[in-house]
Amino acid sequence: MEEHEKDKKANVKEEVCDEKTEEKPEKIEVCYICNKKFNINADDESYYWKGKYPFCAFCAEFYGFYR
Ligand SMILES: [Zn+2]
Repeated sequence: MEEHEKDKKANVKEEVCDEKTEEKPEKIEVCYICNKKFNINADDESYYWKGKYPFCAFCAEFYGFYR
């Protein structure tokens, strides 16, 4: 039982490490709505509307209901 718990913890630690090394590279896009340049890979609301048109975080929130 104790050994099993140890293994579990070791695995969790490894996963956290992997996440840090696998940071998304910046990808600068021009917002389809406001023409502002932004990093679509940033950890915010920005996304591709219909998988095609880049929306910055602000416009993604504003037009969120179209998602
Ligand atoms: Zn925008």
